[in-house]
Amino acid sequence: MMLEGGILILFGLLFGSFLNVLILRIPKEESIVFPGSHCTKCNTKLKWWHNIPIFSWLLLGGKCSFCKDKISIQYPIIEFLTALIFGLVYYKLGDITYSFITGLVFALLLGLSLIDLRYKAVPDSLNLAALTLAIFASPFILENLTNALLYAGGFALLRFYVSYIVKKEALGEADIMIAATIGALVGLKLGALVIFLSAIIALPVFIIIKDKDLEVPFIPFLAFALFIVYMFDGFFAQVFETLYGV
Ligand SMILES: [Zn+2]
Repeated sequence: MMLEGGILILFGLLFGSFLNVLILRIPKEESIVFPGSHCTKCNTKLKWWHNIPIFSWLLLGGKCSFCKDKISIQYPIIEFLTALIFGLVYYKLGDITYSFITGLVFALLLGLSLIDLRYKAVPDSLNLAALTLAIFASPFILENLTNALLYAGGFALLRFYVSYIVKKEALGEADIMIAATIGALVGLKLGALVIFLSAIIALPVFIIIKDKDLEVPFIPFLAFALFIVYMFDGFFAQVFETLYGV
């Protein structure tokens, strides 16, 4: 139990480190393998001890050891959050295989959220990887696939309606893929709750930002709401039953 959880948390740290590379390079369409890790300022190749998740950043005091340029706190935060995701998912599931797959889904969604936030882009590569893994994130693969297809179809229809009404392209293709991931991971009922919850969380942010005429990315809200509903699915299912008897 403890060992499995520890392994997953350790993997989460390493994957978080890799996620930082993905977040940095995928939007620029750079290779995610070559060149190896280097300082984005002075381009000096990093030594292995500069690459230890979280600890290197702390030991270096958040500065490049060559040019002393500041290293964004985003790096250790992503590493921490990814490890936390794997730990929490394992705490919930208690199964190393499915925790591994589910942890990857949420880690990829975290990466997508950051890319959406920073670059207003949602790369298909990460989005499709998250969706594919979500279908295999529980033993009920056929049911997961069915729910993914229903949510993808539902969102595609919604997109036609909304686009027709507002007379411009609403909801992107990326949103349809995320919707499918939501369907696969939590099913139809709780999936609806995810979308509702994300809208509620996003609303105040949208109101604040609207005056400044900024475009607000929606993926971070969907991803966060999905994680909350996934972690507390038993509680939310209970609420549904009490309120609506379904
Ligand atoms: Zn440097």
